[in-house]
Amino acid sequence: MSIYHLSDDNVCTLPIGIYRDGIYHKEVIIDELTGVDQHALSDPKNRKNPQGAISNILRRVIQEIPGVLDKKSNPTHLIPERYINEMFQADIDALVLKCFIVSEESSRTLDFDCAACEAKLQEDLDLKELDVYGHDPEEPPFVNIELPRGIEFDDTLYKKGRFHFITGGIQNKISKYANRGLYYTFSAVMTQCLELEDGQKFNLEQVARMKAKDRNYVMSVVQDTIPGVDLNIEIECPECGADSEVAVDVANFFLPNRRKSKRSKKRSV
Ligand SMILES: [Zn+2]
Repeated sequence: MSIYHLSDDNVCTLPIGIYRDGIYHKEVIIDELTGVDQHALSDPKNRKNPQGAISNILRRVIQEIPGVLDKKSNPTHLIPERYINEMFQADIDALVLKCFIVSEESSRTLDFDCAACEAKLQEDLDLKELDVYGHDPEEPPFVNIELPRGIEFDDTLYKKGRFHFITGGIQNKISKYANRGLYYTFSAVMTQCLELEDGQKFNLEQVARMKAKDRNYVMSVVQDTIPGVDLNIEIECPECGADSEVAVDVANFFLPNRRKSKRSKKRSV
């Protein structure tokens, strides 16, 4: 896996790429955000459905995907939705960050609570400094897994399988489970992405019957090996010195950024 940063020109290098006939197409040409996009962002309907809003805005800003999609004749037109649904979620995250880097200041203010002293803190983050883990183009778009316990189907115990990278379409399907918590959401992810060596897939009841040890193993593989922008950053608390891990929330990224207030600036000195 290669590590790189997002540049501030109009070419986005995707961490995985659009997979067509065994080749990854890694370059996407985008436009800066315009008033059309701001209208979409402030539309109350889109604010309630961040995933849908992201899809609509990317369909507008994407101008060309060399080798996949010709340059649009009109920059304000939307590309077909299926391009976003088929894209890997890691690539969608990178495109969203890239929209901000080319359109406005690349710094964002993150709000977080210190894990140790619970102080309310803010930190400025330069999006161009986030590490992006690029997928090796020689490798297929999944990771192999070997479950510690295994799953039994028709008297056969299966341990080997693969975990397919999450796409925009899958993310859309599972977003309705987000309010049911991390483990439930992960179960929903596994029904879409987990496949055993004989091609067997699972329903929610079957992934719920998996042993916690197997489920935790799959979760750790996904967290540690799936390419994309590393959205978890470590920040040292200016009040007590403890490190907190703060996640950049790409799903809600299009909501207006709040500036650092004078008061909190004073406090963190
Ligand atoms: Zn603290």
